[in-house]
Order: sequence, then C-alpha cells, then structure tokens
Amino acid sequence: MIVLLSNDDGIHAPGLKALAESLQELGELYIVAPDRERSATGHGITVHRPLRLEMVNMHGLKARAWAVDGTPADCVKLAVEDLLPGPPALVVAGINQGPNLGTDVLYSGTVSAAIEGIINGLPALAISLASYGDHDFTRAAEVARKVVGLTIEKGLPRGTLLNINVPVAEPRGVRFTRLGNRRYVNIFHKRTDPRGRIYYWMAGEPLDLEDNGNDTDVQAIRENFISITPIQLDLTDYRSLSVFRQQWKEINFIF
Ligand code: MN
Repeated sequence: MIVLLSNDDGIHAPGLKALAESLQELGELYIVAPDRERSATGHGITVHRPLRLEMVNMHGLKARAWAVDGTPADCVKLAVEDLLPGPPALVVAGINQGPNLGTDVLYSGTVSAAIEGIINGLPALAISLASYGDHDFTRAAEVARKVVGLTIEKGLPRGTLLNINVPVAEPRGVRFTRLGNRRYVNIFHKRTDPRGRIYYWMAGEPLDLEDNGNDTDVQAIRENFISITPIQLDLTDYRSLSVFRQQWKEINFIF
C-alpha cells in the first residue's frame, strides 16, 4: 500500500518527520514536499517556471523522499502524475505547525495538499498541531496513525477530505466539527525601511468570533478537543442557486 505524505512547512519540518515515523509500518511511504516553508500559499501552482526536485535522505525513515521547489499542490500533483510507482491509497498532509481552523483552510498549503489529493480522486487527510510554540508532535502523530487506520478500514466518501486539528493540551476527546469563523485583527505592520520607504508586513492575531457554535472546529480546539472536519471542494452555494435561477430570469434577455 502506497501512502503519499506532503506538507507546507517544508521537507525538513519536524512535523513531517513525526508523521512519517508514525506511519512507516502501515505501508510504503513516499514523501514529496516543498524544499522550504511554503505556509499560506493556498492552492497555488507553478506554471511560469520549471519545477526542480531532488531526492532527499530521510535518515533512518523507511521512506523515499523528494524536495520540490514548488508549492504543496505542485508536490502532490507531481507525485501522483510521475514520481510514485502507482496511485497512493491515501494522501496525508502535515503535521502542520499551527492550527488550520475555519477560514484558515483557504490559505493553508497543508489543506491544499490534501485537496490536491481529492482532486485526483484519492482519499486525503490534513493534520495540524494547534500551536506555533509547542514543537512536540508525539500526540498529533498518534492521532494521525489512528485516523489513517480508520480511513483505510472504513474509507472516505469520494471527494471528501478530513481536516484534523490536535490541541496542545491533553485532549478531552474527539469532535466531528464544521468549519468555524476566523478573522484576524492588526493584520498589517506598517514600517519604514532604511531608505525611507513605507512597507507592510502581514501578520495579525486571530480574533475568534463570538458566533462560533459548539459544533465548530474553532470551539473544539478552544475547549481542548481533537477536531475532525470533513471538507469538500465544491464551493457552489446550493442554497442560492435555485433563488438565482428563479429570480434572475431577466438574465436571459441580455443576450
Ligand atoms: Mn505550515
């Protein structure tokens, strides 16, 4: 069984190593990951320059690995189309350093790597440790192994990935959640460079909105639960699709 691993923190990130260690007995591991950190690159792909790659020795891990000078989506695409000897049974992205909650999933390279999996018709998981300061991936790696085992046993609906966030504190349990709302405040630092020119540096602190219900990923992590959110790619707003079809009939007279 071939399992493909990727991430957005780069091939040398400790979270990826911890993930590979926890899964290496489950199957034949292939790692295709960016050669440097590519967090917050979303689902970008590289089409205006060539992609270069090199094989990487993962030092003691039973895995074949390549570092690619592209995005997480590039990595999964390239792996599936050319590098792997056959289609993987599963794509696992992570373990990301930092949470991927609510609206974060649109910016996240980790989730995008998993999305590239489902675009290719493959079951996929994205897993994140909900902290930037804690570098102990032991528990998140255990969670990954358990969820991977269940995914292989039960399968996932076609076109659905699981976005998993693991709290730093001892988890109180597991919740299946929906995506919550997350907004950032104080996003831009406005500064002056040594030549007197203004520049902006995007940062910001998450402002967890009050309307996050108990069934959201944001709230689950806040209450120290492991959060698992099924995510699909289809962004169509089905609620308003019929409304537009009925109430915008004039659109037909434009042409
Ligand atoms: Mn990251």
